[in-house]
Amino acid sequence: MVNTTIKTTKSQEVFAAAQNLMPGGVSSPVRAFKSVGGQPIVFDRVKGAYIWDVDGNQYIDYVGTWGPAICGHAHPEVIAALHEALEKGTSFGAPSTLENVLAEMVIDAVPSIEMVRFVNSGTEACMGVLRLMRAFTNREKIIKFEGCYHGHADAFLVKAGSGVATLGLPDSPGVPKLATSTTLTAPYNDLESVKALFEENRDEIAGVILEPVVGNAGFIAPDAGFLEGLRELTHEYGALLVFDEVMTGFRIAYGGAQEKFGVTPDLTTLGKVIGGGLPVGAYGGRRDIMSMVAPAGPVYQAGTLSGNPLAMTAGIKTLELLQKPGTYDYLERITKKLADGLLQIAKETGHVACGGQISAMFGLFFTSGPVNNYEDAKKSDTAKFGRFHRGMLERGVYLAPSQFEAGFTSFAHTEEDIEQTLAVARDVMSSL
Ligand SMILES: *Cc1c(COP(=O)(O)O)cnc(C)c1O
Repeated sequence: MVNTTIKTTKSQEVFAAAQNLMPGGVSSPVRAFKSVGGQPIVFDRVKGAYIWDVDGNQYIDYVGTWGPAICGHAHPEVIAALHEALEKGTSFGAPSTLENVLAEMVIDAVPSIEMVRFVNSGTEACMGVLRLMRAFTNREKIIKFEGCYHGHADAFLVKAGSGVATLGLPDSPGVPKLATSTTLTAPYNDLESVKALFEENRDEIAGVILEPVVGNAGFIAPDAGFLEGLRELTHEYGALLVFDEVMTGFRIAYGGAQEKFGVTPDLTTLGKVIGGGLPVGAYGGRRDIMSMVAPAGPVYQAGTLSGNPLAMTAGIKTLELLQKPGTYDYLERITKKLADGLLQIAKETGHVACGGQISAMFGLFFTSGPVNNYEDAKKSDTAKFGRFHRGMLERGVYLAPSQFEAGFTSFAHTEEDIEQTLAVARDVMSSL
């Protein structure tokens, strides 16, 4: 049942060739497995909760293409809708009814969003929102939190979590000092630090941007009162509050973390789930702020493929599937079973660990915890995580290849998948 000797000859061949063709052999850094060691597996196809690699091995997947696959990979209804849309063409570069449909769905779902702009990635959404924050407030500085990732735009590549942390790059070469000189950082869950920054930079801070539940430094939940406190501080100092819900949107709850925690920001960024596996991002928020975006207002931002019919179709169908009654109860139940099970097994097999879960997002750190911020997360035994990761992989469970990434479930994961995963984890942890 538990497969410990997988053959990965083809994966190794393909990845060796890739390294000559693309930097590090990948199109995005964390995929290269640098932080867990060993070689990545090369995917052939995905379906539901599973992945098959080019050597024919099957894995239970907890990455879900980094979040979008919340309905499970290649959901038959999403694929059918895409087939139909494909016949009508792949890109219009002009208004389409589909954009209205998805826009209405997003506006209905997300408390802060009264108007929305579609883009092609989470990075683009965060770049757009940054320009808008500054234009609306006529201020240049922003506050972000250590370990939070907001895409790879220059201004955000300061203490930016997973991908950057994984590579051990404190900042990236090529980012001009000027681009980050207006980026102030604070430890997550630390309201006092935020208040101090506001005091030191009176009337200069455009806003605060954060992951309302962190997924890019491993899984870190906001302390009780943290989000509320940021809402109050931003009001007090005339700054905007921006929730980067690229990861948490439609995952923590249908209306995102802002619905779950009852704190409404001024602006929100989305991505991942709303594209249903196709490239989509979005930013939206208060009508008075969004009305500044071109061509309604002077703040420029554009995109050749933005709002393209395939991406809109996958997003619409994905959100429709998520609206089915019981979806989020199910996601909560299986993910809790997984996260609690992993902690219990760690304890029984003599490992120091902590972790948690909200809805379909979870994490496990090899440190005693509690992990309230990035500094805490970095105390984790990453070498042990690497061995754990490799053991799980060799026994058919695909986890994010970094200690500093959250895990994701989908409603295609069955109770049996979770039980199988826990059985494998017991096996692996016993031999760490
Ligand atoms: C993934 C992610 C991004 C970047 O999105 P891309 O589509 O990869 O550009 C931004 N913010 C958060 C919180 C994310 O998780």
